[in-house]
Amino acid sequence: MANRKIPMEPDKKIALVAHDNRKKDLVEWAKYNRDLLAHHKIYATGTTGRILERELGIDVVKLQSGPLGGDMQVGAGIARGDIDFLIFFWDPLQPQPHDPDVKALLRMAVVWNIPTACNRASADFMISSPLMDDRYDRLVPDYDAYRKRKISGED
Ligand code: PGA
Repeated sequence: MANRKIPMEPDKKIALVAHDNRKKDLVEWAKYNRDLLAHHKIYATGTTGRILERELGIDVVKLQSGPLGGDMQVGAGIARGDIDFLIFFWDPLQPQPHDPDVKALLRMAVVWNIPTACNRASADFMISSPLMDDRYDRLVPDYDAYRKRKISGED
């Protein structure tokens, strides 16, 4: 499959999401990197966003709380091109009521080749990358062949 280029501007559209046991870690990480995050547009699931606004004093586009559909909104934002960067501290030690949504969100991030960090070390490497503040062309498979695939019974 050929690739298509999707431009990412210097100001990224970053979604921050953390499960309850991982929120403290994400907030600490975001506080430490507050200045680096400042010029990007920040989205978050509801509770994560509320805490980030309070602790960092930054503007956050708050979506629904994760278990109420927030993860799916982030996934839809990725598919629409409204979100192009994901920091998602999910909890590896506790089943979540919205496990299918978590899986769907991580799948969308791969489908659209979105930079994704699921732990603090990855987030550190990503935020300090020289690519962070530049324009970057993301290579995404050209899904047109898939869209136009022949379905049996179709003319
Ligand atoms: P929350 O959702 O920020 O509303 O807690 C996070 C999640 O569980 O995905």
